Amino acid sequence: MDFALTKKQSELKQSLIEFAESELGGDMRGREHAGEFFWQGWKKSAAFGIQGLPVPERYGGRGEDAVMCMVAMQALGYGCRDSGLLFTLNSHMWTCEMPIVQFGSEEQKQAYLPGMVAGTIVGGHAVTEAEAGSDAFALRTTAVRKGDRYILDGTKTFVSNAPIAGVFLVFAATNPKLGWAGISAFLVARDTPGLHISGPVDKMGLKTSPTGTLSLDRCEVPETAMLGRPGQGSAIFNAEMEWERSCLFASHLGAMQRQLQTCIHHSKHRTQFGKPIAEFQGISHKLADMKVRIELAELILAKVAWLKSQGKRAHMEAAIAKLFVSESYVASSLDAIQIHGGKGYLPEFEVERDLRDAVGSRLYSGTSEIQRNIIARLLGV
Ligand SMILES: Cc1cc2nc3c(=O)[nH]c(=O)nc-3n(C[C@H](O)[C@H](O)[C@H](O)COP(=O)(O)OP(=O)(O)OC[C@H]3O[C@@H](n4cnc5c(N)ncnc54)[C@H](O)[C@@H]3O)c2cc1C
Repeated sequence: MDFALTKKQSELKQSLIEFAESELGGDMRGREHAGEFFWQGWKKSAAFGIQGLPVPERYGGRGEDAVMCMVAMQALGYGCRDSGLLFTLNSHMWTCEMPIVQFGSEEQKQAYLPGMVAGTIVGGHAVTEAEAGSDAFALRTTAVRKGDRYILDGTKTFVSNAPIAGVFLVFAATNPKLGWAGISAFLVARDTPGLHISGPVDKMGLKTSPTGTLSLDRCEVPETAMLGRPGQGSAIFNAEMEWERSCLFASHLGAMQRQLQTCIHHSKHRTQFGKPIAEFQGISHKLADMKVRIELAELILAKVAWLKSQGKRAHMEAAIAKLFVSESYVASSLDAIQIHGGKGYLPEFEVERDLRDAVGSRLYSGTSEIQRNIIARLLGV
């Protein structure tokens, strides 16, 4: 068993940390206050090749495997303080771009992938509805066939990137009687008549990643807009969730590593009762717990990356990784605030933001309870 990164992986990791620290920070607090998406950072990321990491070279990408992708997203999580930009990048890459790579027709790949790699098209992912959240496959949006076209009707909520996206992967029932087996996925361009987009809505965290609602009102698309086959929607959804539950959460792991560095620095420099607070066991044990969470998170994510790079499924492992990283991120973010004392509670010191972001990580990509349900089901109980 070899846990070392290859030379190529180490070089990519280092160059991404340096790139993110120098180019993706800027006036983060100002953008967060204004709820503003960092377009310049998005474009610089595309020029660096980030959006193209998992995309084959013939569509302009880098064709990297799952291990490289996860190393890269972790490095970005460490180097980039704009968690909203990172969230938008991850949503774009793993829940829109990657499904096109895996399930798209040649025509769909040619139509969308070069623009998504170049950053001229942002991707969105629309499954959630007001009455179908955790129970995603209970969705009510329908896609009714009419000749060589489909007519989509329904409303999608919580769509990350909606206000800025150029294309959406929309899930709808083509055969409602079949339940999950009757769900299909469609690529719907932003300018499609009948597609109405609202937002951004305000959120607790990830404020620089715009979220909105899609209304599909007799929204007509050609049959060639379907991704994969009729009824393949749930399989597409499960495949993309494996990517998101690992790569997005690799970014959160990177953020936890940066958070620990900040806490170590503060603990060594903040003096109370005549000595650095790091010398109090009450503080040093928190730092140790943060490190333990990071190490274990890194191990399970490495296992998912290895399985996926071997072309194997990682349904159980991705659920474990998602659950463990998100719960660890919340626990460590609370520790980070405690270690910083009152300063940890003030936005200007940029400690409390991690907690606001971390709470969201227990909800999206399937809540913690849903991950436990998946794990238990795969255990056969
Ligand atoms: C920041 C953010 C970004 C998001 N981005 C997107 C996106 O881009 N596209 C998209 O489609 N969706 C997106 N979502 C939606 C997200 O996937 C849902 O919020 C999530 O699946 C939970 O659904 P819900 O909010 O309806 O909660 P509910 O399903 O109503 O759940 C409420 C509570 O009940 C629990 N619960 C529900 N069912 C069970 C069960 N069977 N067993 C045990 N507990 C259960 C849940 O775990 C939760 O604690 C996003 C959400 C957030 C917060």
